[in-house]
Amino acid sequence: MNIKSVADFIKEREIEQALKLAARADRSMVQDCIQKAVSMQALTLREVAVLMCADGDLREELYEAARFVKNEIYGSRLVLFAPLYISNLCTNECSYCAFRKDNKEVRRRWLSQEEIAQETRILINQGYKRTLLVAGEAYPKNDFNYVLESIATIYATKSAKGEIRRVHANVAPPTVEQFYQLREAKLGVYQCFQESYHRPTYAAVHKAGKKADYDWRAAVMHRAMASGVGDVGMGVLYGLYDWRWETLALMQHIRDLERTFGAGSHTISVPRIEPAVGSKLATRPPNAVTDDDFLKIIAVLRLAVPYTGLVMSTREPAEIRRKSLEIGISQMSAGSRTDPGGYSESTIDKDAGQFVVGDHRPLDEIVKEVAEMGFIPSFCTACYRVGRTGSDFKNLASHPHVMSRNCETNALTTLLEYLCDYSVSNRVAGEHMIEMQLEKMAPTQRAFVTQMLNRIKRGERDVFV
Ligand code: SAM
Ligand code: SF4
Repeated sequence: MNIKSVADFIKEREIEQALKLAARADRSMVQDCIQKAVSMQALTLREVAVLMCADGDLREELYEAARFVKNEIYGSRLVLFAPLYISNLCTNECSYCAFRKDNKEVRRRWLSQEEIAQETRILINQGYKRTLLVAGEAYPKNDFNYVLESIATIYATKSAKGEIRRVHANVAPPTVEQFYQLREAKLGVYQCFQESYHRPTYAAVHKAGKKADYDWRAAVMHRAMASGVGDVGMGVLYGLYDWRWETLALMQHIRDLERTFGAGSHTISVPRIEPAVGSKLATRPPNAVTDDDFLKIIAVLRLAVPYTGLVMSTREPAEIRRKSLEIGISQMSAGSRTDPGGYSESTIDKDAGQFVVGDHRPLDEIVKEVAEMGFIPSFCTACYRVGRTGSDFKNLASHPHVMSRNCETNALTTLLEYLCDYSVSNRVAGEHMIEMQLEKMAPTQRAFVTQMLNRIKRGERDVFV
């Protein structure tokens, strides 16, 4: 088994050298790297570092390239989901997080299975088909079964015409044995952010608990893949250390997974530190990332790992979320609550939430806006369910036309399902959008998709390729 006990794939000297060389890059070198990325060739660490130097008018060229690559691979689809916080119990001391153990300002809460079912029903009744289960790093009675049971509860919950079809999880790094159990439980993506790859920074902000062990956390993706959980979601918590350094370290981590397992990260998230109750650091992040640099990170990631989904959360305000869609983001959460039980309660319990949410708009409003911007809101969960995961997904993703045919079909069927079952007010505009998408297709594809859409109109559900 390719399991690591030390994260030796992070090579600090290489990162520093790449940054030094890139700092000397002239205009033509930046343009050459942009051109290489547009032709979808893999970039070296140094080339990614050079892309990060695209400033002034070159920044617009970078965005243009990112727009092009995004469109080539993802078309105009945007996958929507919501997180489901099951507990804010935690034994760690992450200085930026409201859930940290010694924070007396947060009201501790963990949900019973009935409460989880209730939260799930609310999400289903809004139209969601996928959710991200989130928990602090401690479980009631210190029992990992709590996570497994919660996943089972979410899958078992039905409401009216709907159900959650895929559960992802962002929970403390599991052992190999626990990964086997997660696989049995039909986990979708296992998500875990390294927060900081820079060891001194990591040590300074993770002072107690299991999470203080950098290597245990950094090796989690190797444990996941070695146990057959092929879809992993990675990320850095932007604001802790220099964003350029962290992004290059993330690339090294991904490239090591690619070399070892034939697939890197299925998704990358781009959390940026937001204010959190009881955290001074979160109010003033030591290396705060400006909005402009944040958008640049998204564009650079889109070019550096073109086949990897990029996920945006509701940490960010609406304006940034809108801009990020064009230059790289392919999945987005909507209508999120970060306080366990939050969907069942009418007022936001800011004393039980993890961080301050930047975009409070409900799903239906996001669907409307996204569609008006020309994107297809998608609730597709097909790949995970037909086994297009890990290296199989990666191989398929590198044939954009195949991916695009499947994904576009599934995006349209799931959108129509959403419009019919959950969004009477958006139905006319939504169906008009579907018509416009059909018009752009080749005749055989159009006939095929129309047939699938007609099945939805006749009342069939969960129609996908
Ligand atoms: N407890 C597990 C862990 O730490 O991996 C999983 C859940 S934790 C709630 C999910 C992520 O939230 C963390 O990995 C961290 O990146 C992010 N987070 C924590 N505090 C944050 C803050 N103040 N602003 C933005 N993101 C934050
Ligand atoms: Fe606990 Fe995760 Fe928050 Fe750290 S980030 S305090 S581990 S919930």
